[in-house]
Amino acid sequence: MTGMTRRWFLTATGAVVVAGATSACSTDAAGGSRTMPRVSSLPEPVASLRTSWSTDPFALGSYSYLAPSPLGVSVRKRLAAPVGRLHFAGEATSHEAPATQAGALLSGRRAATEIIKAARPGEHVIVVGSGFSGLGCARGLTDAGMRVTVLEGRDRIGGRTWTEHLDGIPAEMGASWIHGHKGNPLTTLLRETGGRSYPFDYDSVVGRDEEALAELEAHMAKAEDVEHPDTTPVSALLPRKMSPALRYAVNSVLVQEYGAEPGQLAVSAEEEGTAGQGGDFLLPDGYDRLLDHVRGRIPVRTGAVVTRIARTTGGVTLTLSGGESLRADRCVVTVPIGVLKARKITFEPALPARKREAIEALGAGLLDKLWLQFPSVFWDKNADVIEWFDPTDPGRWSMWVNGHRVFGKPVLLGFNAGRPAQDHAHLTDRQVVDSAMDALRRMHA
Ligand SMILES: Cc1cc2nc3c(=O)[nH]c(=O)nc-3n(C[C@H](O)[C@H](O)[C@H](O)COP(=O)(O)OP(=O)(O)OC[C@H]3O[C@@H](n4cnc5c(N)ncnc54)[C@H](O)[C@@H]3O)c2cc1C
Repeated sequence: MTGMTRRWFLTATGAVVVAGATSACSTDAAGGSRTMPRVSSLPEPVASLRTSWSTDPFALGSYSYLAPSPLGVSVRKRLAAPVGRLHFAGEATSHEAPATQAGALLSGRRAATEIIKAARPGEHVIVVGSGFSGLGCARGLTDAGMRVTVLEGRDRIGGRTWTEHLDGIPAEMGASWIHGHKGNPLTTLLRETGGRSYPFDYDSVVGRDEEALAELEAHMAKAEDVEHPDTTPVSALLPRKMSPALRYAVNSVLVQEYGAEPGQLAVSAEEEGTAGQGGDFLLPDGYDRLLDHVRGRIPVRTGAVVTRIARTTGGVTLTLSGGESLRADRCVVTVPIGVLKARKITFEPALPARKREAIEALGAGLLDKLWLQFPSVFWDKNADVIEWFDPTDPGRWSMWVNGHRVFGKPVLLGFNAGRPAQDHAHLTDRQVVDSAMDALRRMHA
């Protein structure tokens, strides 16, 4: 998530009140107007890294979102509820902070507490998945003296916590931010690891179309009068035919946040989670350090793809893709909502209807990233965020992070979410870079 806020406009409104700004202008914290620098020719990137989370078989999406359904926000608790000796964790099961690292970690710890209360001494637990939820759970169980096996389908640990490296800096391919650092369990981990934080300012921005955001805010204010927010899509608050500027604003505020288009998202999505306090941090030393800290010395078996989980008398039996069977007293499933929805794991007997309904009711959103390393900086060095309103395809490459400001390196991080991300998902790496370069050229023309 690019995380303007999970509460629509709470932070954005401060900047939205300015009328008359154009798509290339923005208002900085001091109230001055800034335009994107014009550049006659842009250098070619020397390196790039891109994600395609919707085609990644171990994710099948970026994070969960609340789709219109009669279950409403209670769907998270329904997904989290154990089925006998089968337990569930993962960001999608978190009602406190869905779709975040904090939610993932808290859900893993919640599942561990649940098991410690219910289990007899000496029980063996298999945890499926090694993201923050899986490792958070495994850590809680191990610390309580339980026998734990962690199975991970990929050849690396971390799942949607995935730190690559570019020009000597940590390039996060999954989560980047600690959203709302106050009271956030990730901030505690950051402190324990001695890692640095960069206080990110979403209102330190160039290129934001303030008028378009103000127009969107006026439409979204109607959410308060919606009688059935659980079953009403956000699109019901918006005009049927939206201007290009409004489509850009919708992408910038909603789609970049939830990974879902307004027709896919419930009005009550805004009520989910407890809004993070205290601003957002980027981690100049990488998210992987925090995950390693949680993992400690817990062994993880990688390349172990679980295809079947059977509940048997007094335990569970898991089958791996190679045919191997593993038995345990309990199992914790932490795979992403996209994997559950695609039924990549067969449950025997079938999961109860309540659980299946919860899996169907939640959506798997999409946010993809592109890291670009350049020989030198050609963009505005002084803003944290570079936004762009592409009049020909509003929402495409609408959000960029200025890596020079955060890391002191000539690096940009571009985002696509929702429909534009789907449009790019099946392109080659070269085609994605070309699409981004076309956007950057027009932004700076
Ligand atoms: C592009 C992007 C940006 C994000 N930005 C932020 C951000 O800035 N801040 C924030 O707080 N959150 C952000 N998030 C969300 C955050 O990354 C997730 O909420 C969190 O990492 C989820 O952790 P998890 O443990 O629930 O799932 P995962 O980390 O996905 O762990 C589940 C594990 O299960 C494994 N698995 C799947 N299927 C199988 C199988 N069949 N057998 C065995 N193993 C399997 C997977 O490989 C994976 O390792 C972002 C996510 C994405 C994709």
